[in-house]
Amino acid sequence: MLVKGDIKCLHCGHISGQWVGKGGTALTPSGYRPRQERDEDPEASIKCARCHGPVFLDDAAAVMNSHRLRRIRRMRAQIAAFEAHGRDRAA
Ligand SMILES: [Zn+2]
Repeated sequence: MLVKGDIKCLHCGHISGQWVGKGGTALTPSGYRPRQERDEDPEASIKCARCHGPVFLDDAAAVMNSHRLRRIRRMRAQIAAFEAHGRDRAA
């Protein structure tokens, strides 16, 4: 499951940006979306933009991609159609 949250500093509480990636995995630089452009090495670990302290993922929430949302909508429509069909037969 994809999660999205704020990259928050353990030392000063500064939010350097956001991170999107697979839940329960390491905070990889590829999922990092900094608030401001950074001129650091993209392969380096994510650090606080203010004090260079260690960071953690705060307020992480599940993210669903559009393909999955479409599939859920389609399944809901199918269930509604199925239930409507069942009511017609019972009546
Ligand atoms: Zn900091």
